[in-house]
Amino acid sequence: MKRKDFLKFGALLTAGFGMSHSVAAESGALEAQGEELFKQQPLPYGYNQLEPYVDALTMELHYSKHAAAYCKNLNSAAVQSGIQKGMTLPDLMREISKYPAVIRNNGGGHFNHEFFWGCMQPGGSSINDQHLLAAVQRDFGSVDRLKEKFSEAALKIFGSGWAWLIVDAQQKLQIVTTPNQDNPLMDVVPVQGTPLLALDVWEHAYYLHYQNRRAEYIKNWWAIVNWNQVAALYG
Ligand code: MN
Repeated sequence: MKRKDFLKFGALLTAGFGMSHSVAAESGALEAQGEELFKQQPLPYGYNQLEPYVDALTMELHYSKHAAAYCKNLNSAAVQSGIQKGMTLPDLMREISKYPAVIRNNGGGHFNHEFFWGCMQPGGSSINDQHLLAAVQRDFGSVDRLKEKFSEAALKIFGSGWAWLIVDAQQKLQIVTTPNQDNPLMDVVPVQGTPLLALDVWEHAYYLHYQNRRAEYIKNWWAIVNWNQVAALYG
């Protein structure tokens, strides 16, 4: 990755997944309780704002129950695993092989969901960024072909997992999938890369509204994709 891009990505991740300790440190009460290393960022839109593609109840449960639990469980396990304050989520992912499964599962769960919320926006968007568009055309032929390949990969995931658009070590765009709460930053996945876009295909992400119709969830999801974030991450 070019240094410019790395810095941009780093800045965005830092902004998006900022550590809570500076805020927590200002509160004596929090200090006394033991401060939390990791924190959920506020959802960048209301629970109902991705409707009708993702329903409000699914968003509420997904953010306030499922994702909140990953964050809470990560904080509990982080102390026991000797994770120091100042450790960023992306850095933790990059050395996840050093930690027990509870950190991999909950750390991955926390990172993935924080990333995923930003992949969506009310009303959706299209690719306006020429640099990103040129890369998509170079590596997939067209935006439609990228969507087809990504959708196919997401549909084929057996059980729970994620579909990703990444920039790989050769600076090429690639579509990869990860099982459970793994992600492409982790030093345990077959193809590592910088994530640009993610889709959660765990049943909790769609079952209330779509039941077993994962293909329909994936197809509709494109209507709320935040391509502006993808472009910003690509640099
Ligand atoms: Mn999820």
